[in-house]
Amino acid sequence: MEIKILQDIMQSNKNVAGEVKALLESKKIYMIDMMSSPGSGKTMLTDRLIGALKERYRIAVIEGDIKTTRDAERLAKHNIPIFQIETDRFGGDCHLESSWVKNCLEQFDLDSLDLVIIENVGNLVCPAEFQLGDDERIVVLSVTEGEDKPAKYPLMFNTSDTLVLNKIDLLPHLDYSMDELMANIKNVNPKIEVFQVSAKTGEGMDSLVQHISAGIDGKKGA
Ligand code: MG
Ligand code: ZN
Repeated sequence: MEIKILQDIMQSNKNVAGEVKALLESKKIYMIDMMSSPGSGKTMLTDRLIGALKERYRIAVIEGDIKTTRDAERLAKHNIPIFQIETDRFGGDCHLESSWVKNCLEQFDLDSLDLVIIENVGNLVCPAEFQLGDDERIVVLSVTEGEDKPAKYPLMFNTSDTLVLNKIDLLPHLDYSMDELMANIKNVNPKIEVFQVSAKTGEGMDSLVQHISAGIDGKKGA
């Protein structure tokens, strides 16, 4: 019985993700689902991306956190639409579901948006299971988390389109093997595109910004 209920939840999440995808397609809006473990620097990365993209594109953010609106407050300076989901109110869930994203999107003026960035709840496990109807799944991994995460959380890395390796400014202080990381990542997902960045210093951000711009332009048919 419990298995049946779980299947129903996953199926209904998948169905609504399909509705979200269709909605975004009709409005030609590009959506990114950004996932990572806590402390990987997602919010600083989002901050950088908004800063680099907001002159050219109209952006909105959906912030998922179990509790607190701290991340949303850090992005408030950009004066763009931000919708905070405190999953605590829905029973402390450690991931976002497509129906919540759909409700958020209905709060935005979709005719005046080009890009929606979802900052998912910090967790490398179940966000991977819940499709949200996005165009691109980005997993953010900081070099301080070690090289073995793709091997330990294969689903997350296997279902992502893009890996942003963050905090590369710390590499000189770490005993980090880029070769080992790359071998681990290629093992679970040979097709994933990798960007090495420091959201703090801005290093490597240009190619990531170009990559996302290409996605937005591609969807607009520009
Ligand atoms: Mg955050
Ligand atoms: Zn969860």
